[in-house]
Amino acid sequence: MSRRNAIKKCPECAATNLTFNKNRGEIICNECGFVLEDKMVDFSQEWREFDSDTGESRRRTGAPMTYTQFDQGLGTEVGQKGDLFKLGGKDRNKFFRLRKWQYRISTAIERNLKLALAELKRVSSYLKLPRSVEEEAARVYTLAVQRGLVRGRTMESVVAGALYAACRRHDVPRTLDELSEASGIEKKEIGRTYRFVTRELGIKILPSNPADYIARFASALKLSAETQSNSVEILEKAQKAELTSGRGPTGIAAAALYVAALMHGEKRTQREVADVAGVTEVTIRNRYKELLEQLNLEKDIKKTKKRKK
Ligand SMILES: [Zn+2]
Repeated sequence: MSRRNAIKKCPECAATNLTFNKNRGEIICNECGFVLEDKMVDFSQEWREFDSDTGESRRRTGAPMTYTQFDQGLGTEVGQKGDLFKLGGKDRNKFFRLRKWQYRISTAIERNLKLALAELKRVSSYLKLPRSVEEEAARVYTLAVQRGLVRGRTMESVVAGALYAACRRHDVPRTLDELSEASGIEKKEIGRTYRFVTRELGIKILPSNPADYIARFASALKLSAETQSNSVEILEKAQKAELTSGRGPTGIAAAALYVAALMHGEKRTQREVADVAGVTEVTIRNRYKELLEQLNLEKDIKKTKKRKK
């Protein structure tokens, strides 16, 4: 099996419905809209490395000077007190140079953190995220800075990526569209940064549960509580029928809401539902068809329509 063949599933939702855009060197998940890193395509060998321990050792040995190296100095100050007096003149100079370096690096990190945490608070309050999520995101961001992962990226995109990860870990997922709107960073960039940071820090994140999206989507679509709880039932049935695996959780949640809304005579267009969930109308249509056929929901919708007449 070639390395490239390894990329068959979306790392976010495990969907196999992927589109490869050769010109841009990107793979896009048609289910959840996630853009897989171009790295995965062009340098598939490199990204494979991060799966195993080899990536870790490669980074430690071959990499150019980064914060990663200085991190060691940050935790334990360069030269403990007594050591200094054992050093000769030359070494002593070196010692003071290192101290100066260390000081500069740590103040740079502190400055970055201060700005970043303010931005993190802003985005988090815009999205009305719980305090626990905000704290987790701050922790992720701090680790990212200490490991030198922010270099070459904007602070804002790493903040957004950290928040996205924290939301997922706390089962209060937000869509990439929502993160994008709140942070002003392009969806693709957030996805990319999120993947990079979680991979580098070894943060494991399971695909989110479609039901976790229902309440927010329903309220954005102004659907009744009955419709909402009905859509959760539909999702449970869909899960049992294995209609959810390999499909983007946002798409299936939206489709379940769409069906439930039809049943309760609260029709929303596929466009409206798709917009709220940040997926395409085609996704809604496909998921909708699957739900109708596999769960035998057609009769329920017809019943409602008759009742309405
Ligand atoms: Zn996906």
